Amino acid sequence: MTAPSDIDGIRAAFQTDLAAVASEPDLQAVRDRYLGRKRGAVAALMKQVAGAPPEARPALGKGANVLKREIEHALDERRKALRMAARPAGAVDVTLPGRAAPFGRRHPLTLIREQVESIFESWGFEILQGPQVEDDYHNFEALNMPPDHPARDMQDTFYLDGSMPGEGAPATLLRTHTSGMQIRYMERHEPPVRIIAPGLVYRRDTPDLTHSPMFMQVEGLMVDEGITMADLKGTLVGFLKAFFDPGTRVMFRPSFFPYTEPSAEVFISCVFCGGGGCAVCKQTGWLEILGCGMVHPAVFEAVGYDAERYTGWAFGLGIDRVALLKYRVEDIRLFYDNDLRLLEQFPH
Ligand SMILES: [Zn+2]
Repeated sequence: MTAPSDIDGIRAAFQTDLAAVASEPDLQAVRDRYLGRKRGAVAALMKQVAGAPPEARPALGKGANVLKREIEHALDERRKALRMAARPAGAVDVTLPGRAAPFGRRHPLTLIREQVESIFESWGFEILQGPQVEDDYHNFEALNMPPDHPARDMQDTFYLDGSMPGEGAPATLLRTHTSGMQIRYMERHEPPVRIIAPGLVYRRDTPDLTHSPMFMQVEGLMVDEGITMADLKGTLVGFLKAFFDPGTRVMFRPSFFPYTEPSAEVFISCVFCGGGGCAVCKQTGWLEILGCGMVHPAVFEAVGYDAERYTGWAFGLGIDRVALLKYRVEDIRLFYDNDLRLLEQFPH
């Protein structure tokens, strides 16, 4: 004879056993004990129901089935809880909402380079890339820097293994500027020339706020009959106003470079204070932005151009320097640290 008290007794015993479960094997043992097809307590209960008097069967059968479902549900819940607790730290929780895929971005120096390129491209300039490993001739000698020239100081140049200058074989080095591209282009092309050549250059500088041993330059060169300093000035003023702001003021100051004559340093009105004077411009109101000049006749001689017939101008602009100013970043080294917290602040 099966009584409702048997059902309650099994339920109570199950609750006690379930509370003692600490692992999946424990859980399986409890499942076998209550839901096993042959020796499980619920199966035994069902047999008793089948043998009960007909008038008692419906109520007992219903009670047994309710108990069976309660036990199944409780076992399932306990298993989920055990698995959650056993999850290693950092494991994927598949119930969390999905995360958007991160978008890549262009590096700030790439953004600046592309802006410079697009301005000169719109004026019909050709954009060139050249080798970062350069020979002594293209980096120095053809640019009017003979072997004893102070600008070739070994303190400034990364010479590659086994190619020290003055030891017979021509020296190989990491280019110290993009100016070698002037030579490489003019060697293979007759005037007129209108090119810019952006790229990485290397110098043995100790890294600090404004120096990095690797940085990015863009070289500009224009050669034709009748090119004058006025063309140089007009082009650079137009570029700087287009790049920074139409209200930017530009100042040329005489300077010296071996490969240009005359040479000039170019300053713009300070982008931080507008020219009134601040810490960045050291209260002068001006920021030095590039070097330029008229191509030295010795350079034309090196590439076989007729220096009596052709004239031209060249400039070199530091892309890192411009990026520091345009994006108001205070430390050039940040551009090479690849820290996503900085890089993610720039547009796509
Ligand atoms: Zn200032």
